[in-house]
Amino acid sequence: MHRSLHACFRPLSVLSLLGLSAWLSSCTNPSAAPGNQMASADTAASRPNIILLIGDGMGLSQVSSAFYFGEGEPNFARFPIIGLSRTSSSSHKITDSAAGATAFSAGQKTYNGAIGVDDNEQPLPNILEILEQACPDCPTGLVATSSITHATPASFFAHEAKRSSEEAIAAQMTHSPVDFFAGGGKDFFFHRSDGLSYYDTLTQAGFVLDTTALTPQSWKAGQKYGYLLAGTGMPTMLEDRGDFLPNATQLALDYLTQAGQPFFLMVEGSQIDWGGHENNGEYLVQEVLDFDKTLGVALDFAEKQGNTLVVVTADHETGGFTLHSTDVPTANGTRSDYDSISFGFSTGGHSGTLIPVFAYGPGAEQFAGVYQNTAIFDKMRQTMQLPQ
Ligand SMILES: [Zn+2]
Repeated sequence: MHRSLHACFRPLSVLSLLGLSAWLSSCTNPSAAPGNQMASADTAASRPNIILLIGDGMGLSQVSSAFYFGEGEPNFARFPIIGLSRTSSSSHKITDSAAGATAFSAGQKTYNGAIGVDDNEQPLPNILEILEQACPDCPTGLVATSSITHATPASFFAHEAKRSSEEAIAAQMTHSPVDFFAGGGKDFFFHRSDGLSYYDTLTQAGFVLDTTALTPQSWKAGQKYGYLLAGTGMPTMLEDRGDFLPNATQLALDYLTQAGQPFFLMVEGSQIDWGGHENNGEYLVQEVLDFDKTLGVALDFAEKQGNTLVVVTADHETGGFTLHSTDVPTANGTRSDYDSISFGFSTGGHSGTLIPVFAYGPGAEQFAGVYQNTAIFDKMRQTMQLPQ
């Protein structure tokens, strides 16, 4: 009883909040000129796939660590186009992950803590919702090493005033356009403070769920898949996460290509940020290397498949991380050993440095230059030929 009441209430509240119906009807206005309809059919045929990979908290020193501590040449080196993003939020010079991800998902600067809502806590249409309207058969996916309800992935499917409301965020999954998700967050779906479990709600909404492993399915276009493999965040690389992130990304790509339609996939290396907050260089670097391996999966796919834009960036830098020369004691004090790199941190929080953006594939050239984080949304929207 409670469950069905709740299930009915949420969609209504979210839809009315979104003002989506008015926006949708303007989007699918049947009075559009025939010429425009022709143009949109032509557009859909050439619309590329987009894979957006976000290394949370990944500044240039974090990227650089892959060049010193990885095996062989990092996949970062495979990108032909590099840009820089200005990451401030509407409320602060230094952003958090919620405002940072909302800039990418919805193209607007908002306040720190906002999940897919503007400064007035009003929902902003996100790129998955916009894609669904333009192309109902185009599938979408989200992969993260945090809970799937954590700030970055949440900003791609939910609209919440506060990032900490992970149970309310989880409740929005069933009526989001997400077709595939993989990450942690079982607690927010199944072991909630309100006593509800969203297991049945998710399966009734068409999801095949796996809460034990990244098991490949006999994929069916139109069927949705959800992998929830930890209570909250996934284990760290220093623990036993193994190849979850590259494997989940490959699994997502295997599924998303089934529909034979252009797709949007967001993949987050969530814990680069967490290593930075802990000022733990070993933790951070292992997360960067795992993320770099995942870039290889995305790039291999894009090279083979063609017509796929791969964009790699971060919401902000975390830890004020540096790769400094190691201080070696001498008779008079210390000297810097330029052949030995040590990890340094200047903060337990985020920093305000410009953030690198890497791009490969159709539309990649737009990502050269220095621009606001919201421009990453604009460039993805333009590349996917989606309405404003
Ligand atoms: Zn952070």
